[in-house]
Amino acid sequence: MTARYDNLLANVPTDLWIGGKWRKSSDGGRFDVIDPATENKVASVAGATVEDAKAALDAASAAFPGWAARKPRERGEILRKAFELIMRDAERLAKLITIENGKALSDSRGEVAYAAEFFRWYAEEAVRNLGEFGRAPASGARILVHRKPAGIAVLVTPWNFPAAMATRKIGPALAAGCTVVLKPASDTPLTMLALMPILEEAGVPAGAVNVIPSRSSGKVVSAMLHDPRVRVVSFTGSTEVGRKLLHEAADSIVKPAMELGGNAPFIVFDDADIDAAIEGAMVAKMRNMGEACTAANRFYVHEKVHDAFAKKLTAKMAGLKMGNGLDDGVALGPLVNKDGLDKVMELVDDAVKKGAKVLTGGKAPGGPGYFYPATVLANVSDDAKMLNDEIFGPVASIQSFKSEDEVVTRANDTEYGLVAYLYTRDLSRGLRVSEKLDFGMIGLNRGLVSDPAAPFGGMKQSGIGREGAHEGLMEFLETQYVSVNW
Ligand code: NAP
Repeated sequence: MTARYDNLLANVPTDLWIGGKWRKSSDGGRFDVIDPATENKVASVAGATVEDAKAALDAASAAFPGWAARKPRERGEILRKAFELIMRDAERLAKLITIENGKALSDSRGEVAYAAEFFRWYAEEAVRNLGEFGRAPASGARILVHRKPAGIAVLVTPWNFPAAMATRKIGPALAAGCTVVLKPASDTPLTMLALMPILEEAGVPAGAVNVIPSRSSGKVVSAMLHDPRVRVVSFTGSTEVGRKLLHEAADSIVKPAMELGGNAPFIVFDDADIDAAIEGAMVAKMRNMGEACTAANRFYVHEKVHDAFAKKLTAKMAGLKMGNGLDDGVALGPLVNKDGLDKVMELVDDAVKKGAKVLTGGKAPGGPGYFYPATVLANVSDDAKMLNDEIFGPVASIQSFKSEDEVVTRANDTEYGLVAYLYTRDLSRGLRVSEKLDFGMIGLNRGLVSDPAAPFGGMKQSGIGREGAHEGLMEFLETQYVSVNW
């Protein structure tokens, strides 16, 4: 541990949080957390075993009846308090995110605010679990519909937003009356461990939220999905792992919510406000250094404005300061780990071999740290791997197009369907094209779609279900209908 981090890490818990207590893992195992900017070890965290996962389910089961029976207003007020306490501790949490994930502090601050908002939003939704009432057309019986908490939920989250991807699940689960066991990503377990004392202070009872970091993700999650007490699995991560978990969930018919990979097109029409499009492009591409499922992965720019757009984007990207995310003025931290860096290098090399022109960046500076510069590639050929694979790094690939129909076909030509962006001054074109795009979310003249009040999620192989908004609450509720005579 380096002196620079001592103060920040001094009080960060590193054990398993089960039943409102810190515990070592049953086999005493631990694993290291690495700062991607320095490659230094910053902490050693207890690694949960299958036995620990069972203990966490025991705790969630014990807490479930009490939590489910609490009045919705009480649950809402605890969530509201959690929002306030996260904002009180925002700077400490943001620095922790930067230390374990690498992202620039400005990105981490944005993430903490976004993460906290899920508790504020679901504090308000907790009291809006409304039912329905009707009369059966033929029998005349009364149809009474209400929604019960679904039960115990297993939550599995990725490293790219260590706080927000988890609060986007914990918030609605708690609002609905569910209790949860969370397995955070192994690269970034500290943020969620640090959140637990905050939730305890807010009044979340022991056992309602349990956190079990583990390097044995497959075994631990599989054991939980085969435990009959588990009723929901909410996963955010790659399509590859999501597919595995859907298979596992099928064995016990566990209700799945899947937020998976993306391959977002970013379309700029010739009538677009180019400066606004550049501003949107910088957010859509560079928020989180491109390590976002929502990151613009393919820029399609109308041939009439292609050169102007490419020139301006290159100037902006080249102006970003790269360095340790904790340092002032840094906009671009390191990628999360060596695999992430290797993948970006491989995708850029492949595109360049196939004829892409490097307008800026394109070469990793070398260690220590998993740094890759902001990069713009033009003339990317249709067979470049990066057009089908998530780049997950600070690389913008630009291609030109001629007509609306052509760009819609090319944008939809992917197995993913999470988010698409388009820029045009013609609103009727914007809405017409939006309807034709097979994506769960559209940024129309906006480079950012994430909002706790909006239904976040994808079509096709980008997922099943939605997070945020009222729909996010529904993922943790079961509908019960009572047929009544009176
Ligand atoms: P990942 O490899 O799929 O891992 C996600 C989580 O699943 C981690 O906690 C991981 O644990 C765990 N995991 C890995 N293998 C598992 C298995 N066999 N069984 C059970 N759990 C397993 O994804 P990632 O690399 O962390 O995150 C990047 C991906 O997430 C990208 O594809 C991105 O698009 C997607 N993402 C989607 C959204 C969305 O809302 N649609 C949001 C953010 C990210 P370990 O860390 O221990 O491996």
